[in-house]
Amino acid sequence: MTPAKCQCQNCGEAMSARRIGQEFCKPSCRQTFNNRRMQRGAEMYDLFRALRRERSEAKALNLWTELCRLELQYQMEDEAERPGRRSYMPPKKALGLLKDKGSLPRGEVMKAMRAA
Ligand SMILES: [Zn+2]
Repeated sequence: MTPAKCQCQNCGEAMSARRIGQEFCKPSCRQTFNNRRMQRGAEMYDLFRALRRERSEAKALNLWTELCRLELQYQMEDEAERPGRRSYMPPKKALGLLKDKGSLPRGEVMKAMRAA
């Protein structure tokens, strides 16, 4: 069987997938991709918790607007540094999972990203 030609989801290099679902050309690309998601998630998590737990101060600081600005910044970074390679689950897919399963259990986000 001929290996499938595809693109590393981190660096964008063309690669021959040695197994079904392979997304990265080397372990360091997988680690960089996952570290980016973890770092962005941690930033969003802290700000989202502040929004939920310190509502009046968060509102005074326009924290929701800040969260939206941060999401846009991530999108712009992806487009500039990694054109054509997203670092998130497509929104419609996330909403579909939420609708079908009632929540996004741990691990589902990465599984759904692979399937997209
Ligand atoms: Zn790579």
